[in-house]
Amino acid sequence: MSHADADGDAADTLFEKIIAGEIPADVVYQDASTFAFRDIRPQAKVHVLVVPKTRYRNVGELAAADPQLLSEVVATARKVAELEGIVESGYRVVFNTDSDAGQTVFHVHAHVLGGEPLGLFGA
Ligand code: IMP
Repeated sequence: MSHADADGDAADTLFEKIIAGEIPADVVYQDASTFAFRDIRPQAKVHVLVVPKTRYRNVGELAAADPQLLSEVVATARKVAELEGIVESGYRVVFNTDSDAGQTVFHVHAHVLGGEPLGLFGA
């Protein structure tokens, strides 16, 4: 099953297949517009990806096209932090954007990282 595709690109990414249940995932939370699942190669004790169910290529395109949906993605990141018990200890939310940042899946996703002290950026 294909999901709504806001950028007009017909080819599904891995994350549309995960949202559709065609590829198994460890789902942490979902609601009408967002979906959260554990990263298959965790970079911290807690490492969850949050995606909008509608595909945009990256966070800049999402912000420009649908700021309400971006707000919902960030709210789901906070919800994940609550569910994982890391609101008090703190957590990081990262949107890798295009090649220098190492973005590999071109369906915008927030990495929610925490559960332990995280290194400084660039270290
Ligand atoms: P990016 O590098 O910011 O695009 O992040 C893509 C993330 O997707 C990486 O952290 C991968 O480990 C993760 N990933 C790739 N395949 C899967 C999967 O099948 N399930 C869950 N996470 C995945």
